[in-house]
Amino acid sequence: MATYEQLFENNRKWVAEKVATDKDFLAKLASDQEPDYLYIGCSDSRVPANEIMGLEPGEVFVHRNIANLVANIDLNVMSVINYAVANLHVKHIIVCGHYNCGGVKAAMTPKDMGILNPWLRNIRDVYRLHEDELDGIKDEHEKYNRLVELNVVEQCRNVIKTAVVQKSYAENGYPVVHGWVFDLKTGLLKDLNIDFEAVLKQIQKIYNLTGSH
Ligand code: ZN
Repeated sequence: MATYEQLFENNRKWVAEKVATDKDFLAKLASDQEPDYLYIGCSDSRVPANEIMGLEPGEVFVHRNIANLVANIDLNVMSVINYAVANLHVKHIIVCGHYNCGGVKAAMTPKDMGILNPWLRNIRDVYRLHEDELDGIKDEHEKYNRLVELNVVEQCRNVIKTAVVQKSYAENGYPVVHGWVFDLKTGLLKDLNIDFEAVLKQIQKIYNLTGSH
């Protein structure tokens, strides 16, 4: 583990290494950002967004919170999505969960979690929506992993419910929303292969916010 004192030293080394491999690195860093991707992931320290996708500074706009939730009254995540779509014109929005997520585990634990209660309620509601499937899984670990996946799918739906995503897709054909899960044991990303068009169509029966019907 790095000590606090090492952090600035690490920072200077990072700059030196980046400049050594790319002399324009700092000029690029200081220029305007034009990322193609918005990544919404968990705050978990073991899931470093840029690194797992092999992306450099400037290539991905990132939002992270406990258990990668997209709650419709969360001004933070909603501002990020709006800015990324309306101003940065991202082409892809990725919601990335991970197995062994502490937030999802906490939501499956029937006890008082204090300030986390209203936050974890979002995941408890995902459980309620998929109760039949989840209760049919006898192995606790498998059930937990499946809830991680279903939570990603539901958060993708929440992204697709936003007006900014629906309007931009109708006008420009992007962004497309994807759901992934990161496996801490293998380091690999799993694409849940969400059928964006199909989900959008299904959601727009109730949430058509494009202004055309
Ligand atoms: Zn997590």
